[in-house]
Amino acid sequence: MTTNQPLELLAPLSGVLLALDQVPDPVFSSRLIGDGLCIDPTSQTLCAPLAGVISNIQDSGHAVSVTDDNGVQVLMHIGLDTVNLAGKGFTRLVEEGQRVEAGQPLIEFDADYVALNARSLLTLMLVVSGEPFKLLTPEQGLVDVGQPLLRVTPQAVADEVKDEEGDALFSKPLTLPNANGLHARPAAVLAQAAKGFKASIYLHKQTESANAKSLVRIMALQTVQGDTVQVSAAGEDAEAAIQALVTLLAEGCGEAVTAHSPAAAPVAPDSSATMLRGVCASPGSAFGQVMQVKEPALTFAEAGKGEALERAALTHALNNANQALQALQEKAIGTAQSEIFRAHQELLDDPALLEQTRDLLDQGKSAAFAWNSATEATATLFQGLGNALLAERAADLADVGQRVLKLILGVQDRAWDLPEQAILIAEQLTPSQTASLDTRRVLGFVTVGGGATSHVAILARALGLPAICGVPAQVLELVNGKQVLLDADKGELHLNPDLAEIEQLQVTRQQHVLRRQREVEQASLPATTRDGHHVEVTANVASLQEVEQALSLGGEGVGLLRSEFLYLDRNRAPSPEEQAGTYSAIARALGPERNLVVRTLDVGGDKPLAYVPMDSETNPFLGLRGIRLCLERPELLREQFRAILASAGFARLHIMLPMVSLLSELRLARKILEEEALVLGLTELPKLGIMIEVPSAALMADLFAPEVDFFSIGTNDLTQYTLAMDRDHPRLASQADSFHPAVLRLIASTVKAAHAHGKWVGVCGALASEALAVPVLIGLGVDELSVSVPLIPTIKATVRELDLADCQSIARQVLGLEEAAQVREALRLYHAATVETSLVVEH
Ligand code: PEP
Ligand code: MG
Repeated sequence: MTTNQPLELLAPLSGVLLALDQVPDPVFSSRLIGDGLCIDPTSQTLCAPLAGVISNIQDSGHAVSVTDDNGVQVLMHIGLDTVNLAGKGFTRLVEEGQRVEAGQPLIEFDADYVALNARSLLTLMLVVSGEPFKLLTPEQGLVDVGQPLLRVTPQAVADEVKDEEGDALFSKPLTLPNANGLHARPAAVLAQAAKGFKASIYLHKQTESANAKSLVRIMALQTVQGDTVQVSAAGEDAEAAIQALVTLLAEGCGEAVTAHSPAAAPVAPDSSATMLRGVCASPGSAFGQVMQVKEPALTFAEAGKGEALERAALTHALNNANQALQALQEKAIGTAQSEIFRAHQELLDDPALLEQTRDLLDQGKSAAFAWNSATEATATLFQGLGNALLAERAADLADVGQRVLKLILGVQDRAWDLPEQAILIAEQLTPSQTASLDTRRVLGFVTVGGGATSHVAILARALGLPAICGVPAQVLELVNGKQVLLDADKGELHLNPDLAEIEQLQVTRQQHVLRRQREVEQASLPATTRDGHHVEVTANVASLQEVEQALSLGGEGVGLLRSEFLYLDRNRAPSPEEQAGTYSAIARALGPERNLVVRTLDVGGDKPLAYVPMDSETNPFLGLRGIRLCLERPELLREQFRAILASAGFARLHIMLPMVSLLSELRLARKILEEEALVLGLTELPKLGIMIEVPSAALMADLFAPEVDFFSIGTNDLTQYTLAMDRDHPRLASQADSFHPAVLRLIASTVKAAHAHGKWVGVCGALASEALAVPVLIGLGVDELSVSVPLIPTIKATVRELDLADCQSIARQVLGLEEAAQVREALRLYHAATVETSLVVEH
């Protein structure tokens, strides 16, 4: 039963009473959290000052609130900044929701430990529900635990916060930056700010919600750093409330915070602060002016205006998004952009996403709310799986999510008003934004989030825009118009470039342009060294378009068809006919004189395939990847073999197995291939080879060689497994270097073993696409270089500048060096002395 009878609050501790004004902490002394008093304790057990229910007790045990039946809410906070002790020194004696009597012990604490390890032991008792009170003792002096201290007059239960009505607006989700979540201090700042608005306002964390005007409710959410929260508001000033509170939350509600990015951990800023470092997402360099770009926050109502209406709005938006993506795809046909827009179209059609959205529409939610919740939830799921590639697909999902959301809300995309020679700076760019950048004005971009393997990075490379990602958030503070130099090759943004640096950059760029022109003009010439040694230069491809492009740039065949990429963004397995059609089309494009090396599905590790569900693994790069996965699901492999075999005769067909680490894997796969060939009535088997990308295969190459037709060395994986460095790790990117002598030694011994058995060896990892590496690979005896399509002319031109005998000598030299940097330096000197001199002479 509730009454308005005055209520006496007892001293929760023995100690010395102080007025709040004397507390050396403005959040408390300003009464932002609530009015009350302070005790410098001499006892070590905090007791309930009134009877009621424990409305909140922090996990860390340093603060507790009791609410009585009349709604009087009293918060006790032991010590200052004790949240930082993370529970050490405190023992909770009660649980949230438990009814307690006045005087009942609530928390025990170790006063010595707290006094030594926190800012102060001063303990606050605050009437946070705001009722007026009278002091029953002198304002200062000694008090004993249990002694009556305050007389509170309960108010008629105020209808302080109206229930949120159907027309609540929701903010976009944001990540809490506060090191200890919303503990008392930031929660108080937030509640105080929320009280400044008439709207009813709620803070949401997953499925829990708290009245944002209630300090205790906010604390009861027990948020921690990195939690995703949302603000909702209903009422006349809802929009303003959301904007103000989201800004406040992002800025840490009065606490000093550093911007939190869920993406790759930013690399520490250069101490001189004249340069910021990130990771190269797309090579090149540019000198231009800073242009910060930001997406405006979208707000929308949770409740729908009728199910039929909301369904129609969703369908309309999905159709329009589909049409827009189709148009973008057609405009970019044959390019990486086109593939990405096709993948986005698939997401529009994703059954799980649509089912989640429709479930919410069934519950009366608005189309915007339903679609947004479904896409956000799935993106969060992707991000939380600990897989870099899936986390990057979350960015694609967020991009599609925004596209549809804007269409539902009728928000027009405003074109960015870009200055000339802009270097865009953003927290994160979406693939759509990247694809539609006006490259006449934009010279490059820099993002805090993102990764080198993201679709944004792929697009930047396709557009030829230099870009770096994983840059510290302080880049977002640079003023628009500031002149900066972006050296993406080195992953650097120079904030105060001097004239010499800028001029050097322009000279280098001009040389690049001239060299590229010449290389493309001569792309059809064979890759033969000056002394007559021919090296086959083939292409790494993932689509028919890339095969066609490769041929036009002088590619002599396909050294690696990454078959999993043909279907990476598909929700359903391609039919056997479709697979056979794809391989045959590629083989036909190459013709009977050229090699086609089809690698069987290399799924797992950083490459999940939506239609091949896999259990999550703690360490997917060391788990069921590549051939291991296919042998676990032999039907998958059989079906793929059948589809590949259907293209036999159209090109010189080779089948290659990825991630082989054991002889038994090769033998089992060969048996399956032979069985399938027999069923199809083929008299001749295609060539069968393996990738050398696991050290065990490289070390046992002499035993593998008699049983294969060829090897192709995957230096990307061979490097990560040899050096035990994750190939996608943003902080190890500079050390996980394929130029490491350990990797080169494995290449050397593999080639030796293969040649002893008359088998050829290719390199299809990214090392083969580096002009600097060409002399050492040729010197080690590599027969084929399978390279990324745009680099075919460069690699062929580089081969033509070399002498085999020189290459052999430089290869011998670098095998004896200690680390990758030394190898690079030795090759740079060699390159400067040979290739570059000859270019300068000719120009
Ligand atoms: C490699 O590992 O070097 C390779 C070519 O395979 P992928 O990059 O597709 O793993
Ligand atoms: Mg590999």
